[in-house]
Amino acid sequence: MRIFTVILAVWGTCCVAQGGEGTSFRRVAVGAEEAGFFRTACDAMETEHFRLIHDMRADEAEGMAKVLEFAHDQFGSYFGGYGFELHDCGEPLEWMCFRKKTLFADYAFATENADLSWLSGYYSSRTNRVAVVRPWRVRKWYGPGRHVADVSARVDDGVDDGLVKIVHEAGHQLAFNMGLQKRGVMYPFWATEGIALVFEDCVSEYLPRGRYSDGRKERLLELYRAGSLIGVHEFITMSRLPAGVRDADVYAQAWGFFQFLCANRAEDLKEYFARLYSLRPGGRSVRHLRREFEQSFGPLDHLNREWLLFLKSSAAAPYVCQTCPSRDGEHIKTGAAFSDSP
Ligand SMILES: [Zn+2]
Repeated sequence: MRIFTVILAVWGTCCVAQGGEGTSFRRVAVGAEEAGFFRTACDAMETEHFRLIHDMRADEAEGMAKVLEFAHDQFGSYFGGYGFELHDCGEPLEWMCFRKKTLFADYAFATENADLSWLSGYYSSRTNRVAVVRPWRVRKWYGPGRHVADVSARVDDGVDDGLVKIVHEAGHQLAFNMGLQKRGVMYPFWATEGIALVFEDCVSEYLPRGRYSDGRKERLLELYRAGSLIGVHEFITMSRLPAGVRDADVYAQAWGFFQFLCANRAEDLKEYFARLYSLRPGGRSVRHLRREFEQSFGPLDHLNREWLLFLKSSAAAPYVCQTCPSRDGEHIKTGAAFSDSP
């Protein structure tokens, strides 16, 4: 049976939050295969949950590792707060971080047999690794204003997209290693990207200048008002970005749709992910994907009516607070765009 491989690329710009002190680092040996991808000197460090193989300066690598441990903590409390059953990652999760984009692209080509030179980072369900180009701002992470995991996340416009990249890809990797998703199983686009996108949102809570999903929210509502959203019947079975639609628009819809399900259908959402987790690896047809969705969420027409009401109320109310689980289990206001019910 063909194993379904997912490559989950970075999308979006935005930023993150605070915490994460006390991360412990351990220098470890780099395997010969991994070292071969760097061509020059490289190094590796392990934290409690991650192994970072890189050719950066040691302090830059430590900054990244702190953000990764921060993401791990946030992931558990965020999705655990919604009642998802999570388990430990097991072995340290591997990251490959390259200073040079050309080395990153060569690595991607060698391991994925695909030209991914247009990306700056991705998670691969086949290798279970994340590969990234070193965030351009990493050297400033030790400057004034420490906001995320003991590194500085704040920039003039409130956004450090290098940090967002790390958190987004960590979200994918953690989902596939903590029990939300199973490697080799095919997932629709909205489900896989939705996890990483709403995960970014939760960590952005700590930022002083608002959420970095504001742009997605704005675009989602523009598309809704223009009648340009992809119909639910098609959207719930899409397994990749469709041709002829701007990628950013599809991501905005995935973000909004996942928010909608978290707010209105959290129990169904958990049931849906548990159902897919029980499947054997391999691709499935659109017909199967639709049936699985309806088994968890009920008739599509009903759900579509709720979704449209949700959008309508969101468009009518430019700012409605929603609650989301905080790290300590209490609920905090997130300032999300949507109300709890349509
Ligand atoms: Zn993604």
